[in-house]
Amino acid sequence: MRPVRRFARLGRALRRPGRARCVLALLAALVLLVLLDQVARYGAERWVMVQLRGDAQAAAELRAAMLRSEIEKQRSLPVVLAQDPDVRAALMDRDPATLRALDAKFEVLAAGTRASVIYLLDARGITLAASNYREPTSFVGSDYSFRPYFQHAMAEGEAEHFAFGTVSREPGLYLTRRIDGPGGPIGVIVVKAVFSGVEAEWRRLSGPIFVTDRRDIVLVTSVPGWQFRASAIIPEAERDAIRASLQFGNATLDPLPIRAEGGDRVRVAMPGSGATRVFVEAAAPVPTTGWTLHVLVPILASASVPIAAARVLAVLGGAVLIAALALAWSRRRRAVQKRRREQRARRELERRVDERTRELSTANDRLREEMDQRQHAQSALQGLQDELVQASKLAVLGQIAASVAHEVNQPVAAIRTFAESGGMLLARGDAAAAGGNLATIVGLTERIGAITGELRAFARKTPGHVGPVSLGAAVDGAMLLVGYRLREQDVALELDMGVGDILVSAERVRLEQVLVNLLQNALEALAGRPGGRIRIEARVDADTAVITLADNGPGLPTAVLEALFMPFTTTKPAGLGLGLVISHDIVAEFGGSLAAANRDGAVFTLILPRVP
Ligand code: ADP
Repeated sequence: MRPVRRFARLGRALRRPGRARCVLALLAALVLLVLLDQVARYGAERWVMVQLRGDAQAAAELRAAMLRSEIEKQRSLPVVLAQDPDVRAALMDRDPATLRALDAKFEVLAAGTRASVIYLLDARGITLAASNYREPTSFVGSDYSFRPYFQHAMAEGEAEHFAFGTVSREPGLYLTRRIDGPGGPIGVIVVKAVFSGVEAEWRRLSGPIFVTDRRDIVLVTSVPGWQFRASAIIPEAERDAIRASLQFGNATLDPLPIRAEGGDRVRVAMPGSGATRVFVEAAAPVPTTGWTLHVLVPILASASVPIAAARVLAVLGGAVLIAALALAWSRRRRAVQKRRREQRARRELERRVDERTRELSTANDRLREEMDQRQHAQSALQGLQDELVQASKLAVLGQIAASVAHEVNQPVAAIRTFAESGGMLLARGDAAAAGGNLATIVGLTERIGAITGELRAFARKTPGHVGPVSLGAAVDGAMLLVGYRLREQDVALELDMGVGDILVSAERVRLEQVLVNLLQNALEALAGRPGGRIRIEARVDADTAVITLADNGPGLPTAVLEALFMPFTTTKPAGLGLGLVISHDIVAEFGGSLAAANRDGAVFTLILPRVP
């Protein structure tokens, strides 16, 4: 991927707020981990340094104490030998045999006390006897009058002097003591202590050890090559003076290859290899000598183990802590997000519920409106139906008007006849017979009144209430309206109304309308057919009254039977095809039913609820 594209992608990622926060958190975690690592390293290093410093200081003090005891042991030798009668006798007599015996004695002593050389100088500084008398570098006969330790001892009684041996070419600490005779100083006893054993012992230890004198010149050291080098800068003049004294042979007194690194740490260029190593330096004075013992403890690779462990622990701990924090944070974030999602979902749900409620209420309003409209339509329809019923009734009335007129005509003609004959009877003075005529006339007017009353009731527009109606009375009423036609058409009527009066739940005028309709249809079917007969039969069940109206006409045409009680089904040229429909509806309104069939003519079965 080209860098430009990579940066573009990084930029895009950072622009997304979630990602940017994530990257920032990662960076913060990284910085924290680095910080923890550094703090742990610093702390662990400090701790390791404190340990090392403690170790170094303890080692320095121990080595200084051991060196002191070594020196103390050597110091006692010249004190003892200065008092030795053999030494005194040899100085006084200078007898060769005595001197050789002294050589042997010194040899044994030197070997026993680990002193390098023991020797005896006379008052002029010439060696009379020495423990190394057998070696080629024997001191016997050598003149040491120039040596400061001789001159100092002669003057002060004793001396200690560290120097490079001119004959032995071995450095050592010269411990001297003056021997006085009766007439003054007669000689000086010298013990040369060397530290090669101590140095060899120190070399076995892991770090360099060295001892410096008051002028910071290294006297004893475990590092070959460091002897007679300076641990501090020595002024040029002083260095020249020391060189001239030959105290340290022709040593150049160069500074030690040690560089301070801050604190107690020093960096040392290791002899031989060009490599440098870091040490902790500790120093302790060597009592009674004015020397200082320095111990360098290496900061070993093993010291890096606790530091590394501390760093790893700190980083791991930090990582675990960060992970735990991240986990807690992410859990919290997820919980917050979940809560927000839930809130959103709840709000959405509430919104939808509101919306739905609004929709429902508008639907409700619409429904109510529709219901109102339907009710309106229903009542309109009802009105229409009522109109229709009325129209049908009027149509029937039209049809039966002639019949009714004849029905009225008859009693009117009879009244006229009875009135005329009554007049004649009165003229004859037969008041009784005339009274009989008048009574008949009253009866006839009653019949006329009944017919016109029926007609008026039939024509009435507003229907009455549904209630108990006498079936016999309804049939009688219908007969008043169609009776004339029956007689005119010479149709025989058979009435079988059962036993007693049957009460049905209906409305008088409308029930009569149904009966008149059915009778009219039967009469029309029987028109022009001789021997016509109509039979009306009434039977009762537990709850219902069953009325059958049968004729012996041609029966219902198939087309009519198939579409029975459907509006406008008619076979008559002037028929409306509404009579049966309206009759069916009226009966249904009473809670009853109307059915038709063909059986030797048409049979209509009317079932009505019975009123007990
Ligand atoms: P409309 O009398 O005006 O035709 P209706 O509904 O009263 O209307 O009668 C429908 C038709 O049923 C009649 O046209 C007639 O064909 C038939 N119908 C009714 N009653 C009888 C009957 N008793 N015998 C034969 N046909 C009948």
